[in-house]
Amino acid sequence: MNAHAIRKIVIVGGGTAGWMAAAALTTLRAKNAVEICLVESDEIGTVGVGEATIPPLIAFNNMLGINEDEFVAATNGTFKLGIEFVNWGAVGERYFHPFGPHGQDFRGVHFHQLYSRAARQRAMPDIQNWSMSAVAAELGRFARPGPDARLPLSQLGYAFHFDAGLYALFLRRLAETDGVRRVEGKIVASALDPESGHVRSITLADGREIEGDLFIDCSGFRGLLIEEKLGTGYEDWSKWLPCDRAVAAPCSLPDEPDPFTRSTALAAGWQWRIPLQHRMGNGMVYASNHLARVDAESMLVESLEGDILAEPRHLTFTAGRRRRAWNGNVVSLGLSSGFVEPLESTSIHLIQSGIVKLLALFPDRRFDPAERDEYNRQMQTVFEDVRDFVILHYKATRRDDSEFWNYCRNMDVPDSLATKFELWRTKGRLFREGFELFGTASWVAVLFGQGVLPLETEPAVDAIDEDMANDALEKMRLSYRQMAEHMPGHAEFIARSCTASSG
Ligand code: FAD
Repeated sequence: MNAHAIRKIVIVGGGTAGWMAAAALTTLRAKNAVEICLVESDEIGTVGVGEATIPPLIAFNNMLGINEDEFVAATNGTFKLGIEFVNWGAVGERYFHPFGPHGQDFRGVHFHQLYSRAARQRAMPDIQNWSMSAVAAELGRFARPGPDARLPLSQLGYAFHFDAGLYALFLRRLAETDGVRRVEGKIVASALDPESGHVRSITLADGREIEGDLFIDCSGFRGLLIEEKLGTGYEDWSKWLPCDRAVAAPCSLPDEPDPFTRSTALAAGWQWRIPLQHRMGNGMVYASNHLARVDAESMLVESLEGDILAEPRHLTFTAGRRRRAWNGNVVSLGLSSGFVEPLESTSIHLIQSGIVKLLALFPDRRFDPAERDEYNRQMQTVFEDVRDFVILHYKATRRDDSEFWNYCRNMDVPDSLATKFELWRTKGRLFREGFELFGTASWVAVLFGQGVLPLETEPAVDAIDEDMANDALEKMRLSYRQMAEHMPGHAEFIARSCTASSG
């Protein structure tokens, strides 16, 4: 046992970030070596949104030993095969960003290069026809991926939609069972150790004081410790991601839930549609200098496909990231560490990523700066990669029907994204670096989907016989469709194994 081991972790906040951290950090509690306490305030509440996820959450569930059917049932969840984007490239267009790859590479040449050559010579169906997840989504089907790598079903990728409140409750049950102590109360003050400058304790409104060695700040946008106490600073990305407001309102389900999220671009932002088992989550993300709050609310309410189930909820944010996610003995997770709008459902993943990296670089009471710096470096990369991929959707538009879209189409982008664009535009090349979350298939889906086609293919494509490649492409396309036609309907799949356990 390390004589300097962390003895007590205090998690500040019980939203999605707080309870994900609590449930995961219990892995450190072997022989009850670490005490974990989570403080949350019912009076303040949580942000109450965040209901669409991406496939790595499956690994997080596995790490926590969560049974997937129980998890889906407990959170009124549904399955998500990707995101349908409407009106992004131009008004009237739609495309699908699926989970999982497109087609199969051929003798080391990427599938999208072969598709690109074929599409230059003749009218081709959209590239999404070569994605198992996209074809299943189009037909409203779902099944878990099969183990046989020769079958198209093995390429299916999926994630979940769930009720954010129920997800936090589900994790809370897990965490409390594993010994996490929950404290209800409003934090009104915190104290620093005068020597180290580290946070020593927090004080609740009723006067209780809670000390800790390591503090996890999951207090939401305000960043109670990381910003309000330590003044860490925030890097503002709003010149690239100008949306700064959201309004959300659930409605009744008009029909059986689709196995995908829909994102519809509007004149000054976009609208999400997330089907759960018991309701539809809806919301609009918009730029307040282009659209008034009252207009955003009425546009959202008028567009709902079912009966509105709660008062519209308004949220304000600034795209960006905390300059150091880990400062002193405070690690920020969730909204307190930064925010990229939910266009690609990445925030919950960023929490997961932060937790996994924290476990890998877990400190002791000496707080080695090398561990902290490495964590901050890795988290910066993860955040910036997500930022670039989301900016891509705004930059790669041909829309010119509003000032908002004119701004986005013409704005300068970060150098990292500009370089990617250039490599794509010339010969359709894409490279995944370091910890990058979104791989080739994701970039290909958005670039083709929004009409950004490469000028040429890479030279290696010329070595592959054209007739043979086109024949293989057609066979592949048919195999995805045939496979999807044999899959159960999404609602049928849920009814069989994971019907909601709460109303
Ligand atoms: P919060 O939910 O705000 O929780 C903060 C916690 O801190 C609460 O428990 C609160 O009570 C506590 N707290 C704060 N101050 C005090 C105090 N003084 N004393 C005691 N307790 C305190 N993410 C996705 O992955 N997918 C999505 O589809 C998605 N959609 C989103 C849509 C919008 C419009 C927004 C704004 C975000 C979305 N997100 C999404 C992000 C997602 O909602 C958050 O990442 C996630 O909910 C985590 O929030 P949090 O736990 O960091 O903060």
